[in-house]
Amino acid sequence: MSGKKITSKRVVIEPERSIPVTAKVDVLVAGGGAAGFGAAIGAARTGARTMVVERNNCLGGTATAGMMANLNVTGPHLIGVAHELLCRLADIDRAWFGRVVTFSPELMKQVMLEMLEEEGVKPLFYTMISQPIVEDNTVKGVIVENKSGRQAILSKAVVDCTGDADLAYRAGAPCTVGREEDHKTRPMTLLFRLGNVGIDEIIEYCREHPDQFIPSPYWNVLQKEKKVLRIEGFYDIMEAARKRGELDSNIHYLRFEGVDTENGTIIVNTSRVYDLDGTDAQQLSIGEIEARRQMMQILQVIRKWVPGCEDAFLINSATNLGVRETRRIIGEYVFTHEDAGNKVRFNDTVARLWRRAGHKWLAGMPGVEMHSPDAGEGLRDEAFNQRMKTYDPDKIPPPPEKDFYFPYRSLIPQKLDGILVAGRSMSVSHLGDTWTRGIMIVMVCGQAAGTAAALAAKDNVEIRGLDISRLQKELIDQGVELGEEGT
Ligand SMILES: Cc1cc2nc3c(=O)[nH]c(=O)nc-3n(C[C@H](O)[C@H](O)[C@H](O)COP(=O)(O)OP(=O)(O)OC[C@H]3O[C@@H](n4cnc5c(N)ncnc54)[C@H](O)[C@@H]3O)c2cc1C
Repeated sequence: MSGKKITSKRVVIEPERSIPVTAKVDVLVAGGGAAGFGAAIGAARTGARTMVVERNNCLGGTATAGMMANLNVTGPHLIGVAHELLCRLADIDRAWFGRVVTFSPELMKQVMLEMLEEEGVKPLFYTMISQPIVEDNTVKGVIVENKSGRQAILSKAVVDCTGDADLAYRAGAPCTVGREEDHKTRPMTLLFRLGNVGIDEIIEYCREHPDQFIPSPYWNVLQKEKKVLRIEGFYDIMEAARKRGELDSNIHYLRFEGVDTENGTIIVNTSRVYDLDGTDAQQLSIGEIEARRQMMQILQVIRKWVPGCEDAFLINSATNLGVRETRRIIGEYVFTHEDAGNKVRFNDTVARLWRRAGHKWLAGMPGVEMHSPDAGEGLRDEAFNQRMKTYDPDKIPPPPEKDFYFPYRSLIPQKLDGILVAGRSMSVSHLGDTWTRGIMIVMVCGQAAGTAAALAAKDNVEIRGLDISRLQKELIDQGVELGEEGT
């Protein structure tokens, strides 16, 4: 405790001290997940000296360290930097598949890194951003902590892509958490990868038991082309296992993400941890322990009951627990589920985006959500069962993708200047985030935020005072689709 004065049993007072400024940049991107990657590319291509600071040892966040290897969007609807990234992956990796997009998390890490390096951006890994530097309500940089100690990085503009709005929140931006009425958040999931899986036997089981699976574009591909990209269901197997006490009651279905299935490997996306705060390290630790306990249950059930998996073995688990929802900023505009559904075209649109319709849509149900904060919400009910009895992938096309527009104001926190927020903590409502939290979507919104930050830094103007038409033109030049001009 040298240098620290204990003033009570509850707090210590840290003495004032000088912190070395180790870098000065135009745009500092906090967090190198999908959104941070997009932001860094957008900023660098707009001519900004750009730096990305990331606590992990890789780029991609949930998409790579979280092993979440599926974009939830079909190839033709990829835009901007997401399109470039996936095309580059497709050149080197067979996992890409035109109509639905899956990828290898390991290759994704590398391609993201190469693309940043080509833009002259070198990420600073193994570094936690602890505080924003704020003067007169303007964010001027960040304080970071790493093996080298505590350092300051000064920046003309900051893009908060921490997923949790860590910086905006600490700088004083109004924020909210979870569902509006009770602030509960969606469940967390730890993904893991299995080897020695008998894909042919799994496919045979799927084709013989179509009522056991959620219809989706992935399902149509499996039926027609015998390719596993994602399968979700195995309802009877899971229900029987729950009844035998082999599984927790929260675990309703089994989902396989099909990456590298040719080599007998598959990613399991199934555990569900509820009612924990992903911005609290202690609760995250509880979540990690709980998810690992569930992983062992799920592993045993797969080995025992899923055909072709008797000799499956655990290759690895995700580096980071998958956190779907935490804090979001309440920005200059809060984007809603209704805005998306009504396809509101904003004057300050920064992207026209696409989202695949959910399984509830297929089942003819009004809901939009399969990851509700309520533990135990059944995914299979009578309406679903009825619909499944008549579902025929040869006759019913894959569910449509729906387009929507995203506004610039939802990237800007209230009350602050010098900072934008992109990624899953953008200014959207709880249900709005079913449209906006997908990997491709946060990446493109990140690109918009990075581009805006670079323009603001270049012109020395306030972020909320940026010339929107200039930003839109720059984004179009970068391959981002904005759709028709309108209201
Ligand atoms: C289990 C699960 C399943 C999902 N399924 C799909 C799917 O099928 N398809 C789809 O498109 N989307 C899916 N999503 C959603 C999607 O993966 C995420 O919403 C998206 O990847 C979030 O990207 P992000 O960049 O906003 O945040 P993150 O991926 O969380 O990235 C934030 C980055 O910031 C870093 N960071 C955080 N705080 C700090 C700090 N203080 N200092 C330094 N670095 C920091 C983190 O290490 C991380 O790299 C899923 C999410 C989960 C959790």
